[in-house]
Amino acid sequence: MRLHDHVWASHFRLQLRHATRYRAGRVLLAGDAAHVHSPAGGQGMNTGIQDAWNLAWKLAWVTTGAADTALLDTSEAERRPVGRAVLRLTDRAFSAATSTNPVIGAARTRLAPWLLRAALAARPTRARAFRSVAQLAVTYRDSPLSADGTRRDGRGPRPGDRLPDAPVTVDGRPTTLQRALATPHLHLLVTGPPVPADHPVTRVPHLRAHHLTHEAAAHALVDHTGRAHRRLGLRAGEAAHLLVRPDGHIAARADGRRLDELDGRSGAGSAPPDGPRVTRRR
Ligand SMILES: Cc1cc2nc3c(=O)[nH]c(=O)nc-3n(C[C@H](O)[C@H](O)[C@H](O)COP(=O)(O)OP(=O)(O)OC[C@H]3O[C@@H](n4cnc5c(N)ncnc54)[C@H](O)[C@@H]3O)c2cc1C
Repeated sequence: MRLHDHVWASHFRLQLRHATRYRAGRVLLAGDAAHVHSPAGGQGMNTGIQDAWNLAWKLAWVTTGAADTALLDTSEAERRPVGRAVLRLTDRAFSAATSTNPVIGAARTRLAPWLLRAALAARPTRARAFRSVAQLAVTYRDSPLSADGTRRDGRGPRPGDRLPDAPVTVDGRPTTLQRALATPHLHLLVTGPPVPADHPVTRVPHLRAHHLTHEAAAHALVDHTGRAHRRLGLRAGEAAHLLVRPDGHIAARADGRRLDELDGRSGAGSAPPDGPRVTRRR
């Protein structure tokens, strides 16, 4: 067997570039067209897919007239900081991996393996590192689409965070919270008392209401393990309203006493007849 039958090599030019804008009129950037960087850390493809995921539902709503074109600008506001962070991380990782400085070289070959092993031995650190590298921890807390609905006790996800996942059943069929909400709608997730069937929110186009409960109930998301409530930072039976975007990020949350509380915060619950509107927090 000759080596060159099985190994090939080619030139690869490393780039570090970031578009200053992700939208100019009808031109929208996503993926490597918006940000290109070192492959160190394997972040490029995930970042690009998440750019497209962030943009897809907004484009669908704007092109069908369900939302104003201003919704498209929120993609740059949400995704450009992510692109910037990825460029910084991959640039540092590449510099550390290729530096010819003897001190950095020694740290890389002697210290780093030991430090990494020690740090990743702890389960919480390992979980945090996994979520970070897999980009599951990406949040849009500073987005103009994220209403200010942080709980006073700080428990559970905040507006802008990704909806956590947990097993649930619907009419006896096993599924998960994220899967049950994976349709191109705005989702109102309600715990505690369900939304009355004649409430105006049930007539908002593009919005689906879901009742998350511990007890078996027709069409409800039944949290038989209690994990969904725990991951949402809720006690058993505690009332809450969460508005979840089509891309799985939370737009707003309220403590569930009154549904109009959520309306005032996000503007989505009180949507006009032609669909949810986009409101800015500041
Ligand atoms: C060596 C290497 C290793 C990598 N490893 C990883 C990894 O482990 N994990 C990871 O997540 N990412 C990795 N990446 C990054 C990842 O490959 C890219 O981020 C990803 O492929 C970008 O996808 P994209 O669709 O945005 O762009 P591209 O994959 O570049 O796709 C753009 C497409 O558009 C086409 N095109 C360009 N101009 C035109 C035009 N005018 N008209 C029509 N078509 C056009 C191109 O031919 C191309 O097919 C790596 C990259 C490299 C170079």
